Amino acid sequence: MNFSDEEICTHFGESYHEHHGAVSPPVYQTSLFAFDSFEAFTEAQKKEQENYVYTRGVNPTTEILERKLALLERGEKCKCFASGMGAISSIFFSLLKSGDHVLFVNNIYGPTIQLMEHLNRFSIDYSSVDNNLEEMVKAIKPTTKLIYVESPGTMLMKVVDLQQVAQIARERGIVTAIDNTWSTPIFQKPLMDGFDLSVHSLTKYIGGHSDVVGGAVIGNEELIDTISRYGFQLNGAVLSPHDASLIIRGLRTLPLRLKQHQQHCLKVIEYLKGKKAISRIHHPSLEADTKSYINKQMKGFSGLLSFELKQAGFDQVSQFINHLRVFKIGVSWGGFESLVNAPVKRGNEEELNKQGLSPGLIRLSIGLEGADVLIEDLEQAFQALSCE
Ligand SMILES: *Cc1c(COP(=O)(O)O)cnc(C)c1O
Repeated sequence: MNFSDEEICTHFGESYHEHHGAVSPPVYQTSLFAFDSFEAFTEAQKKEQENYVYTRGVNPTTEILERKLALLERGEKCKCFASGMGAISSIFFSLLKSGDHVLFVNNIYGPTIQLMEHLNRFSIDYSSVDNNLEEMVKAIKPTTKLIYVESPGTMLMKVVDLQQVAQIARERGIVTAIDNTWSTPIFQKPLMDGFDLSVHSLTKYIGGHSDVVGGAVIGNEELIDTISRYGFQLNGAVLSPHDASLIIRGLRTLPLRLKQHQQHCLKVIEYLKGKKAISRIHHPSLEADTKSYINKQMKGFSGLLSFELKQAGFDQVSQFINHLRVFKIGVSWGGFESLVNAPVKRGNEEELNKQGLSPGLIRLSIGLEGADVLIEDLEQAFQALSCE
């Protein structure tokens, strides 16, 4: 099966002849599937993870998306969820039991850590390390069941050496999972580097239009079947067929959009490098020359970056952000629209310092408005800052 990513995003996994030649697949907006005989019904029920019985199981529209995502990641199977958190929680619920330990590597998405803290009441333990692999090895316990990585992270965009992590884990019989939302499978295929599971928030670049929330997990058949049975069907974070069709539409232009996000982001970074008010810029492209594994595991860089305003706290950050006109203020990222966000709140500067985050940290998601427009927008905000 030698399909290019572009072919997978466009035609792969769809059977036009089954749908009167429709190039856009129908939305099977149905909760259940009826059978001709009771025998056929009971046969199908034996394997609800494979047969069309109930949409909190398998649905033909969602299945098209699952086939595409599985092959994009070069995995055997994919399961889609109602959100990225639905996908992440399904991994934890399906694979962990009381007494297990989870090791988080690199800056992990906040709600993922909150969920793990909640699981502490069921005697599931966790610890966190940054992207230093020596520290990671030291933090492994005899009870470590899962190593869960985010690379690049989504605040400081730090990158983890995926092949090394996968090898260290495999030698010890530990399952590896990565949140691959930042890169999407277009720019990074962690299963090919030896990871067991790749998880996505489809809400970001893959959906791409900021009109849908979704998630996915990709891995080998055995793991995905376990996750489908316990984490999907019983947890019930089901992606609706309509939302699946929106994400299939988003996927069609993903390679195209990412090229543009990358190009515009690199231009914005070049511009930011000349700003005296900035002490640091965070984006994996800036480290690719010094860390050879970055070029080995990543084919490109998406449009999420952050930078630090020198000696800034809440007031300077809000002054700067309030002057932006094209960048919208809000959570999330990876959509067509450029967004700005910052972790600082009034009074939390000290706490941020403790977490290793500068209070002047500002995160930008570079959308599709064009680099010149975005640079102009940033420039007038920098000018306003130096006037005040
Ligand atoms: C947004 C996000 C999630 C959660 O996805 P939802 O679709 O919002 O549930 C998980 N990981 C990362 C890195 C994210 O940015």
